[in-house]
Amino acid sequence: MVNEKRLIEGFMELVRIDSVSREEKNLADFLVKKLEDLGLEVRVDEAGKKVDSNSGNVIAYLRGNVAMEAVPIMFSTHLDTVVPGKNIKPCCEGEKIVSDGTTILGADDKAAIAALLEALQLIRENNISHGDIELVFSIGEEIHLQGAKNLDLANLKAQLAFVLDADGPVGKIITTAPSHNFLEIIIYGKSAHAGANPEEGINAIQVAGYALSRMQLGRIDEETTTNIGVISGGKATNIVPDEVVLKGEVRSRNEEKLRRHTEQIKKVAIDTAQEFKARAEVKINQEYQGYNLSPDHPVVKIALKAAENIGLRPSLCSTGGGSDANVFNQAGLPAVVLAIGMEKVHTVEEYIPIPELKNIVKYILSIIEVVTSGEKLK
Ligand SMILES: [Zn+2]
Repeated sequence: MVNEKRLIEGFMELVRIDSVSREEKNLADFLVKKLEDLGLEVRVDEAGKKVDSNSGNVIAYLRGNVAMEAVPIMFSTHLDTVVPGKNIKPCCEGEKIVSDGTTILGADDKAAIAALLEALQLIRENNISHGDIELVFSIGEEIHLQGAKNLDLANLKAQLAFVLDADGPVGKIITTAPSHNFLEIIIYGKSAHAGANPEEGINAIQVAGYALSRMQLGRIDEETTTNIGVISGGKATNIVPDEVVLKGEVRSRNEEKLRRHTEQIKKVAIDTAQEFKARAEVKINQEYQGYNLSPDHPVVKIALKAAENIGLRPSLCSTGGGSDANVFNQAGLPAVVLAIGMEKVHTVEEYIPIPELKNIVKYILSIIEVVTSGEKLK
């Protein structure tokens, strides 16, 4: 039933529209028109103004065409891409769609957008039954989930959400994701001339070095990781440096461990600075909260059943990364993340197999069918 040619051309058209984070407007305008032509009610919210993007989130609504009550559901994807994401030239290489190797492909997350558009076409052409469906196309997903964080969920009707935004084979369902803390550590030493009177200085870089060697970094256990990923400081070789900034993160699917390891890094920084008569300031920001949906949760059961119905072998997985689903779950809207077949995302080797692109369309329609049939899920 899927129109392969239309799907591939539609996908390529989408990736040719540049939409790196904060510059989503051209893609948003294009989508608004497409969705309206397909008969949906579409609006663009004000989130862009809050996060310095040239567009807001695009929200579309397809009213149900069945008399019976079906649970209102949401499919969500994101508009923005990482860099290098301008002037993308997609092409087919056998069964795969790839970029020319100088940019990402943008299958993350435009494969999902293309699949949704094709599914909507098929719903229209074949008069497929469906309940109320909301579509959310967020901005700024790649820059700390900013669009989703500024989306007004209270205005939406959906009771369950399917976020089409994981790599790997279609059928992979993500039900668990970690919480994530950001850390910024500033170590203040004392500057002095490095040749004339170094004894008057306190070398902030050296203090940072001691502190780093005492921190527990990397994989802590199966559900916890820590990292210091950025270090900057110092002005010249002849100056004892008086300031160093370290940036890092702690992730865990266990809130207690998240707290403990964040505190551990903070304490090491402060204690080590004190030991060398320097001073450390530590800022901690929660990036997002984790979630853990039970296999019995309706949103998980629907995702499993819909995959089985089209002959996919579904699997329930956890992830170490965050997505808009973290924001939705935190706000009380149960959301799973579904894999869409994309591979090597965030690299210039990113690709998507054409059969997987078709599978996403089939999977979306299968989810709609399961929800609409009101079938008792065992
Ligand atoms: Zn993505």
